[in-house]
Amino acid sequence: MGLCLCYSDSIPASFSRSQSDRRVQYQPHKGTGNHSSTMNQLRQIKRSELKPDEVLCTYCTAKCCRYFSLAIDKPRTAADFDYLRWYLLHDFASVFTEGDSWFILVHTKCKHLQDDNRCGIYQTRPQICRDYTTKNCEYEDDYTYDRYFETGEQIAEYSNARFNEPETFRTPKPGLPILN
Ligand code: SF4
Ligand code: SF4
Repeated sequence: MGLCLCYSDSIPASFSRSQSDRRVQYQPHKGTGNHSSTMNQLRQIKRSELKPDEVLCTYCTAKCCRYFSLAIDKPRTAADFDYLRWYLLHDFASVFTEGDSWFILVHTKCKHLQDDNRCGIYQTRPQICRDYTTKNCEYEDDYTYDRYFETGEQIAEYSNARFNEPETFRTPKPGLPILN
């Protein structure tokens, strides 16, 4: 989840931050370097194609500024999983795991991300945005989760399988339509 490259037109192309870092903590991200292109004009390149005077963020739609994630307690009981189900009843929320750690992920973009994918408050952006770098960031979209839940039904099924309570969270079947 920063691109501290956002507003400057003369930024070094070397950054560093880790993929896992962004997932392990609260991570709003940073706008990005020299984003003069619109999203439709962006040309996807590989990191290896980046020239020494270029910033990777220039070729990105500021993916790291479009969500945040928070570590949550590992669920241990059916009641804990029902709590997670409540999270997932909300729009744009998901839950994922990395190893033995659990996280809530909210897919919502920063209010200060501009239409050109640059940070609108570059000079006063939070420290977490300043610390985030392009090293191992989500630019390539090749990240996979150990577990990923998008709906209340998914977390309920997982809980049911684990605690052998097959009917606990089942949604009742809708009634049949009445035909005249
Ligand atoms: S303040 Fe918002 S737009 Fe700026 S770098 Fe941070 S997350 Fe991105
Ligand atoms: S995901 Fe990576 S390349 Fe894209 S804006 Fe964030 S730090 Fe830059």
